[in-house]
Amino acid sequence: MYADDTIAAIATPPGHGGIGVIRVSGPLAPRIAAAMVVCSQEHEAWESHRLYYGRIVDTGGVRVDEGLAVLMRAPRSFTGEDVLELHCHGSPVGLRRVLACALGNGARLAEPGEFTKRAFLNGRIDLAQAEAVMDMVRARTAAGAALAAEQLSGRLSDYLSELRGRAIGLKALLEAQIDFSEEDFDVSADELLGTLRDCTVPIEKLLDSYQHGKLMRDGVRIAIIGKPNVGKSSLLNALLGEDRAIVTPVAGTTRDAIDEPVDLDGVPVVLSDTAGLRAADEAETVERIGMQRTTSRIAQAQLLLTVLDASRPLDAQDDALLRTYAEAAQVIVLNKIDLPCLTAAADVQGVCNSHPVVSVSAQQHVGLEELRRVLLEKIAGGAAPPDTPVLSNLRHVDALTKARASLGLARESIVSRCPPDLVAVDVQDAIDHIGRVTGAITSEDVLDRIFSEFCIGK
Ligand code: GDP
Repeated sequence: MYADDTIAAIATPPGHGGIGVIRVSGPLAPRIAAAMVVCSQEHEAWESHRLYYGRIVDTGGVRVDEGLAVLMRAPRSFTGEDVLELHCHGSPVGLRRVLACALGNGARLAEPGEFTKRAFLNGRIDLAQAEAVMDMVRARTAAGAALAAEQLSGRLSDYLSELRGRAIGLKALLEAQIDFSEEDFDVSADELLGTLRDCTVPIEKLLDSYQHGKLMRDGVRIAIIGKPNVGKSSLLNALLGEDRAIVTPVAGTTRDAIDEPVDLDGVPVVLSDTAGLRAADEAETVERIGMQRTTSRIAQAQLLLTVLDASRPLDAQDDALLRTYAEAAQVIVLNKIDLPCLTAAADVQGVCNSHPVVSVSAQQHVGLEELRRVLLEKIAGGAAPPDTPVLSNLRHVDALTKARASLGLARESIVSRCPPDLVAVDVQDAIDHIGRVTGAITSEDVLDRIFSEFCIGK
């Protein structure tokens, strides 16, 4: 067992809720259960994985709360240790009192991610799965959660361990060549290169999957830009499906940028409704500050949604806007097509023809499906999701890029007929880099860095 002390933490988020959970893990968990939970029915001993209802008491026997308690005995628990969960009333003050009782009975406060770290160190999950736990907790869309769930199930880990097995097989071939060189044991360069390719191709595929994984995990920022009153806030509301931005007929109402998360067919998107851009000397001070923030939102965005008013002719400001951001990734929206139109897509394309133009009425909810489709195509490039497990973590990308580089060096050595022991060094490096993803090879500082990003109680 990795640790001999017992940790405790509030596992549910801060704030008021129907239920709040205190988690305790370690050898003292059974004793803490017996000391803190006074059950209404007599029972001989705490049965594992069974819910008990009772009063929760402090070390002086004073009632602190009441709720359900479950003891999960080692090794059949998340951490692989004895784990106690107390399901209490979800009040921050109440939960802190219950936590204090657990600490009073000998537990210590858990560090961020320490439950998951124990699960890893006790061999319940590997490092990639531990990271998936965090992705699962942080997922912002159903697709992001599905990706994390897949990684948590061990699909990536299985794929990598098979891959690592192949690289170990390659090293065994090289070692046999070293050990039996006197005995005419020879493996052809072609055979070695073939085995090496069996390792490199899956790594390439995994690395290719990262763009998709990153998109699903981190999403993209889209800034909605345009002159005041063209309908930016209305468009934001229409895309959100609810009124979250203020819509008024007075130009310059959106004084500050509003960031809203949206689920665009599974891709987590943050839409920024920005203050309208117009000549600074026309705008009053507060609006000007809003416009400065707009500029910073534009710089942060991966995609611009430029809104124009189709019911008015294009003017010098629209023209300047289109030309200023001509090089940026952009989708242009012609809004207010429910009114008689004085600007058509062809007029816009006359100024700047490299971006898709979509006609909508934000007010009447016309053209929004097409806009979503064009946005998604622009974001995801229309590519189908990869058929391999998907990488979504930069640490994994880094390790596998190094593994690919080491295999590249091994390849060069084989082609130039270098001695097998030289090739074996590079292959071993690749094996180690692959092992770093799942934690087969790891160091304390890497673990500290990974788990410090978790929340307490996870
Ligand atoms: P913003 O300043 O660019 O954020 O513009 P708003 O969303 O506040 O809209 C400005 C005005 O245009 C409001 O009176 C809206 O009701 C109106 N508006 C927005 N979208 C449409 C539309 O599609 N059709 C029509 N007819 N009016 C719209």
